[in-house]
Amino acid sequence: MAQKKTTPAKQKVAGAAAAPAAEKKTTAAAKKAAPVAEKTAPAAQKATAAEKTAVTEKAEPAKKPVAAEKTAPAAKKPAAAEKAAPAAKKPAAAEKAVPAGKKPAAAEKTETAAKKPAAAEKAKPTAKKAAAAEKAEPVASKTTVKKTKPAAKKAAPAAEAEKPAKSADKPAAPVTEAPKPAEEKAAPAPAEVKPEAVESAPAEPVEPAQTEEVQPVEQAPEEPHYDTPRRSVAFIGSECHPFVKTGGLGDVMYALPRELVKQNCDVRVILPRYACIPQKYQDKMIYRGEFYMDLGKTGRNYYVGIMEYVWDGVVYDFIDNQEFFSAGNPYISLVDDIPKYCFFSKAALAALNYMNWIPDVIHCHDWQAALVPVYLHTFFQDTPVGHAKTVLTIHNLRFQGIYNIPTIQYWTGLPDEVFNMGALKQDYEDANMLKGGLAYADRITTVSYTYAQEIQTPEYGEKLDAHLRYHNYKLRGIVNGIDYGMWNPATDPALAVNYDITNVLDHKMENKRALQEELGLVQDEGKFVIGLISRLTNQKGLDLVNAIVPDLMDGNTQVVVLGTGDKQYEDTFRYYENAYRGMFCACIQYDESRAHRIYAGADALLVPSRFEPCGLTQLNAMHYGTLPIVRETGGLKDTVQPYNVFDGEGNGFTFDRYDAGLLLDAVNRAKTEYFVNRYHWDEVVQRDMAKDVSWANSARQYKDLYLELTPW
Ligand code: ADP
Repeated sequence: MAQKKTTPAKQKVAGAAAAPAAEKKTTAAAKKAAPVAEKTAPAAQKATAAEKTAVTEKAEPAKKPVAAEKTAPAAKKPAAAEKAAPAAKKPAAAEKAVPAGKKPAAAEKTETAAKKPAAAEKAKPTAKKAAAAEKAEPVASKTTVKKTKPAAKKAAPAAEAEKPAKSADKPAAPVTEAPKPAEEKAAPAPAEVKPEAVESAPAEPVEPAQTEEVQPVEQAPEEPHYDTPRRSVAFIGSECHPFVKTGGLGDVMYALPRELVKQNCDVRVILPRYACIPQKYQDKMIYRGEFYMDLGKTGRNYYVGIMEYVWDGVVYDFIDNQEFFSAGNPYISLVDDIPKYCFFSKAALAALNYMNWIPDVIHCHDWQAALVPVYLHTFFQDTPVGHAKTVLTIHNLRFQGIYNIPTIQYWTGLPDEVFNMGALKQDYEDANMLKGGLAYADRITTVSYTYAQEIQTPEYGEKLDAHLRYHNYKLRGIVNGIDYGMWNPATDPALAVNYDITNVLDHKMENKRALQEELGLVQDEGKFVIGLISRLTNQKGLDLVNAIVPDLMDGNTQVVVLGTGDKQYEDTFRYYENAYRGMFCACIQYDESRAHRIYAGADALLVPSRFEPCGLTQLNAMHYGTLPIVRETGGLKDTVQPYNVFDGEGNGFTFDRYDAGLLLDAVNRAKTEYFVNRYHWDEVVQRDMAKDVSWANSARQYKDLYLELTPW
């Protein structure tokens, strides 16, 4: 259970300073800690260059030469650090680091993995430089409200921390024995908490891309279900609505913790404090503390600030470091993102130790937080947070955090033994952060039952299918839900007219007319309006949509697309908007509020994804009485039961193979019901609105999983 903070002045940042010594330690114990490589030699896991690009779709694929340049720590130093450092020496260090990165692409590619660390080594700042940089580290920003800077906090060597009691179900982790804590060796300079932090103005926050934000309607907090034992859970992830969201992960990080509070959980969500978090939230954060933490082989101590915001029973702790989080967007390119999330994952664990809030379970999300279980079983094993069990949720297997081994070794400092084929090693030259996390986590979940099965096949496994089959004893699918506070047509402030199941048939028409007016479409409530709200990427089946648009546009059908993404799709939809004026609308933007109005005003919503881990848009649509037309894959298959014309059962229209003809057929079946059999259509509208797509059921399953891991 969570241990509450008692005497802040005596707090120790156990584990924070563990890295350097641990990386030196290549003992037999460390070897044991690394999971054994699967017997099935993952020949299929070797990625070609082209395949690698596919894997890193979300965070743009990084060019390795650039990576080498970026990994040079001197080049990474913030402007402030440069000023504070011995002026003449710093640029020289940077200079040294650059040539490796300047090599022509071809030459760089052929460079052996063994050569790269040497380059990194050269770039290593000296102890002096690190000290200088330390002084210049960014400090708590002006948004700091509470300045409870502890007088003399020292980050104690973790050896002083109490030994974790190994639980009986430890074998769930692939680790039989963790590497000896670094602190047992001559400890490096402890990660000292700087009490005399100076205030400095934060980087100007950049507003996120969304144009309007829909606030959840305040609801009376529900009483927790005390019939289930209390557990404390730390969520660690890279995005969370309403602070920062690029897709479904942001929704889950927002809604699931709130629901878990109702399931008698004590929840803390740990996020990066990106500069793009809207100022109104930055203003509400209070300063919780700060410390310095070493990172990998950088030879530097990095500032870690903790800014806190408590909202509806959930505590949000934002990890502050302007050097890593000052960009306008959470994801930039892998060159920046790999170091950023190596830092974030370690800082999150160190922050838990620092706050002396030790959760029963640490629930981490996607590749950005996948190193958490790896760090936990290495550097943090014998620190207080080492008690915690870990759950790693895959929200989208396509994004894995793959980069060359020397770079990831450099930024993490993890021992060589962790870079084997059973854990982080992807192939001859690359390491895969998600793969490592999957190996070390106590449980793996993904966001639907079907996706949990699919990812164990070569077709959907993104080259990790063998790895996932090996670990499938700890893999489980739990479908997502939606937050009824945020998604409720009866109270939604974004809608022209609110409605519920009793008056949906009348009021949906009014919302349709308002939507047509807003988007410049022909205003006619007799038209069949199809919505598509999506990231415009290859995953979402947009080539199928593009192929059938001319067949859809029969004069009675209107199409509304809302999304941003790949230029080719953006341009194609713009072309169709021009070709079918008044009947086709392409909103190439991210607009939360407009999304709500499309869910309310459209008759049907298209989700023809190539693969879909869970999908939230079909759930939102059903809850707003808009019938989904989906491909039977992943969570779409689990949440949309196909409409059966004979018995009238079902929630929407589906097709199975990835084929444009089948998509067109599904849309035509929907149109037939709409135009010819409206009575049945309306029945399905009401049935979908009544369907329970809330988080309650899923949160209970997560709670059961936590209890399974912590059976005391
Ligand atoms: P993914 O996580 O793969 O992007 P999901 O269906 O799981 O897809 O979640 C998408 C979420 O993002 C939904 O809440 C959807 O309403 C929202 N969304 C997607 N694109 C946009 C957009 N352009 N504007 C507003 N909201 C969007």
